[in-house]
Amino acid sequence: MKRKIAILGSTGSIGTQTLDVISQHPDLFEVEILAARRSTDLLIEQARRFDAANVVICEESRYPAVAQALQDTDTKVWAGMDSLCSLVQSDRVDIVVGAMVGFSGLRPTLAALEKGKIVALANKETLVAAGSIVTSTMRKNGGVILPVDSEHSAIFQCLLAAQGNGIEKIHLTASGGPFRTWDRGSIAKAKAGDALKHPNWDMGAKVTIDSATMMNKGLEVIEAKWLFDIDVDRINVVVHPESVVHSMVEFEDGAVIAQMGCPDMRQPIGFALSFPQRISVGNRKLDFASLGSLHFEAPDLDRFPCLGLAYEAIRRGGNAPCALNSANEVAVSAYLKGLIGFYDIARICEKCLQGMNFVASPSLSDILETHSEISMIANGYID
Ligand code: MG
Repeated sequence: MKRKIAILGSTGSIGTQTLDVISQHPDLFEVEILAARRSTDLLIEQARRFDAANVVICEESRYPAVAQALQDTDTKVWAGMDSLCSLVQSDRVDIVVGAMVGFSGLRPTLAALEKGKIVALANKETLVAAGSIVTSTMRKNGGVILPVDSEHSAIFQCLLAAQGNGIEKIHLTASGGPFRTWDRGSIAKAKAGDALKHPNWDMGAKVTIDSATMMNKGLEVIEAKWLFDIDVDRINVVVHPESVVHSMVEFEDGAVIAQMGCPDMRQPIGFALSFPQRISVGNRKLDFASLGSLHFEAPDLDRFPCLGLAYEAIRRGGNAPCALNSANEVAVSAYLKGLIGFYDIARICEKCLQGMNFVASPSLSDILETHSEISMIANGYID
């Protein structure tokens, strides 16, 4: 039986790499749903190529163009978030790949988990904004989250060696991003174009900027806390510029299990789609002799204050990580447009955390309210 896959965010970096893996294994997978926010041309091309049963264009104004382009096919075309949320609950869907960008991934992910689906989650913002709601929805309805984020997939793979033993520590590796060796003054003047030159990973614009500020690693600390039910004080970030060790788990006896490989998102994607089997994904293999050496260093919270802000937000708990995430989404989008400087991203996040209305045990409506309130406040800080 082929696994039927729904890809939320099929035209983005993770979405296209997921389709690449699927194209290598037509005997294992078939495409049930492709959903994109607004990239109509690529969505149409993907629907034809993979003979998708359904496509969803989230921006409703773009529906007529997609529907017309696919009218000679068997693909059903839908518009909007509500359609997407009900489609992912269909009995015909086995695995939902959550690869939308940012907070927008929350509703369809929750919808899938409400029906006990397997969610291959790349959209870390969903867990950052609403970790307790997402994980309790998963547990209550018998759903499963399989991590696609490379570090969390690595931890998940390391934990297969745990045999019921508790985790002493997680060592979350970070590439350090394009500004790892830059001084603070030069980083302050960096433009989005500089930040978008990521040394190791091929990723979308949002996560690439997050990687440059190291907010990405902060969001991943929060993501790891929820995925592996571990206190943040046991999560250690270590900068590892080669991005070969994707993360590590340390046990009580001091043994450290690492997961390694060439940096290529198709490995964690393939593992989530085919778990517990492993499948070929067309990636390059490690050559240790030509690698020579691997390097590790402590992160610099002075040059990369966003990482410290993320620890602060998750220690505070409640809706603070949601506020941080929403402020960051607004700030990163302004930085990409050239409206603010690099360190304004951290400054806006910090101000939003200070000025927010704190809720200790937020409901979903508190989370939605925090998101819209903080987005508005953060926009006010952009000149
Ligand atoms: Mg990652």
